[in-house]
Amino acid sequence: MIKQNVSQLLSELPDGVQLVAAAKTRTPAEVCTIVSAGVKIIGENYIQEAERAYEVVGSNAKWHFIGHLQKNKVKKAVRLFDMIETVDSIKIARQIDKCCAQIDKMMPVLVEVNSGCEKQKSGILPETAEELIRYISAFKSIRVMGLMTMGPHFGNPENARPYFAKTKKIFEHIKGLNLSNVQMKYLSMGMSNSYRVALEEGANIVRIGSKLFGKREYGATATTPIR
Ligand SMILES: *Cc1c(COP(=O)(O)O)cnc(C)c1O
Repeated sequence: MIKQNVSQLLSELPDGVQLVAAAKTRTPAEVCTIVSAGVKIIGENYIQEAERAYEVVGSNAKWHFIGHLQKNKVKKAVRLFDMIETVDSIKIARQIDKCCAQIDKMMPVLVEVNSGCEKQKSGILPETAEELIRYISAFKSIRVMGLMTMGPHFGNPENARPYFAKTKKIFEHIKGLNLSNVQMKYLSMGMSNSYRVALEEGANIVRIGSKLFGKREYGATATTPIR
């Protein structure tokens, strides 16, 4: 079932689009199956889940952090992950920089934009994205590689289109600034129900969970949906 879902989705994605399998609540065995089915990048929301899956899958996949990162988890996160998609404050960027410097690692990051300007959602407000990126560009052990957004959740993915379009606009604006140490290459938008719309609006990373793994059951491992 998983294998079929993966090959169907991969055949649908245009060249140059990267698929991140959003693995929250999935077992290491399921993550393993996804990787052997051809998924190259695993997205993890929780450090503990990532550690467990990493024990089994290791460097057979790349690992993207897509959850809300707490400062006290950064040290573990920078060892484990190949990219952090959810940088949304100077404080967290500074901690990533510090922990990466200690292990001589350069961390590619995406800045998360709260494109719906929703209270309680993580991500930086659209109008402050440029300022944050200018600030981060001074850090030696971080490289900003693009933007990520969730957008508000709707039943109808068409309703998410303006938020994806808005994020793409910010992406292009910042790209046009040609800031040093910033390489605007990736735009991570779209989930199972919205990735087609996100692709039309310029996403080149899509983060997909339930369409690959099947419906999520929330049990002991995670009590909060999404993050
Ligand atoms: C869970 C999650 C996804 C994938 O959600 P699905 O609806 O299962 O495809 C994508 N991005 C983030 C940040 C997530 O937490």
